[in-house]
Amino acid sequence: MKLAPIPHNEIERQSAITRMRIATFDAEPELDRITALARRVFDVKSATITVLDHDRQIFKSRANFNMTESRRDISFCGHAITQTEPFVINDARNDDRFCDNPLVVCNEPIIFYAGMPVYHHEGHPIGTLCIFDNKPREMSQRDIDNLKDLAYLVDMILLLRFAQFSQKRLLQNLDDAVRQSMIDPMTGLWNRRGLDEILNRELAPEGAPVPEPLGVLICDIDHFKHVNDTHGHLIGDEVIINVAETLKTRLRENDIIARVGGEEFICIIPGISREMTPKIAQKICDIIRNSPIETSEGTNLRLTISIGATWISPDMGTVNRKPVFETADNALYTAKYSGRDRVVFNTDIVENRPEGLLEQQ
Ligand code: GH3
Ligand code: MG
Ligand code: MG
Repeated sequence: MKLAPIPHNEIERQSAITRMRIATFDAEPELDRITALARRVFDVKSATITVLDHDRQIFKSRANFNMTESRRDISFCGHAITQTEPFVINDARNDDRFCDNPLVVCNEPIIFYAGMPVYHHEGHPIGTLCIFDNKPREMSQRDIDNLKDLAYLVDMILLLRFAQFSQKRLLQNLDDAVRQSMIDPMTGLWNRRGLDEILNRELAPEGAPVPEPLGVLICDIDHFKHVNDTHGHLIGDEVIINVAETLKTRLRENDIIARVGGEEFICIIPGISREMTPKIAQKICDIIRNSPIETSEGTNLRLTISIGATWISPDMGTVNRKPVFETADNALYTAKYSGRDRVVFNTDIVENRPEGLLEQQ
């Protein structure tokens, strides 16, 4: 028997699955329509949509199949996700890779199998749409095309599902009054309340490990009082709006950006590695320094920003939000006092730190 191989990009693949929150047994009626349709179209015993999660395979959607999960290493789908075309076994009894597989040598054997990978929108194969039967069969070119198209529909359902979880969807679902109370009217970014709300709902509920790595940046414009004093409050507002725009355009759509103080912003970057977190922060610093802001009074204002950054990952177990923000805040404090226009990155998350900038406001 040949065990299912582990794809070369397994870590990124697994991270995509975690971010999708799809490795659960929650009912997904849209996916069930596809497996039911696949079973009818191909006239096979069973059809499933599987997710290959760590060492197990989850049957996310099942048409005429009772199992909810099984070992990944003996799975057919574990082979299928390493292909870009349907993986077809016409008769597993005659195939060296599967003839002695426990799924083949059993009371309810899988004799025929065809599986097409289904993809996360970033391109990682997360599992398959597969059909199988307890008797051998052939796949025509038309069957292959049908299976590929049905798998593509699964990709689209997963994409829509992702959008449903996104910040935009959260906003659409709120009634106007609640929405207004979560958004900073000047910049259109989340305010502090909005940030707390979206963290609770979507990303990192208090008291639970984060489901994926998160970069946390606290950014504060340097010597901003000087801008207000020299150019007036209105120009100061323009500068704040401009910096907010830079953050929005430089970060990804799924990153969470909030204006939490006068000229202070928190950025939460899901799915980022430890190494990339200070690099992204440094990029923001560089862009702000190198992009003079053209104000309505016709002047070009040059400014800089300081960033305190930290990073947390699921491996750290339960991490409370307060010490995470305090760590980033203290890093910001260090950045300010060591000369501004810089990033200080610290992942040493400690409870009960001395007061930082956030507490002083
Ligand atoms: P540092 O480099 O230490 O950050 O110096 P700073 O001058 O930026 O100091 P600080 O961050 O304490 O200053 C924030 C200033 O931002 C104080 C406040 O007058 C001003 N501010 C707060 N909210 C607004 C706003 O909505 N519009 C404008 N124009 N100014 C604001
Ligand atoms: Mg400042
Ligand atoms: Mg400030």
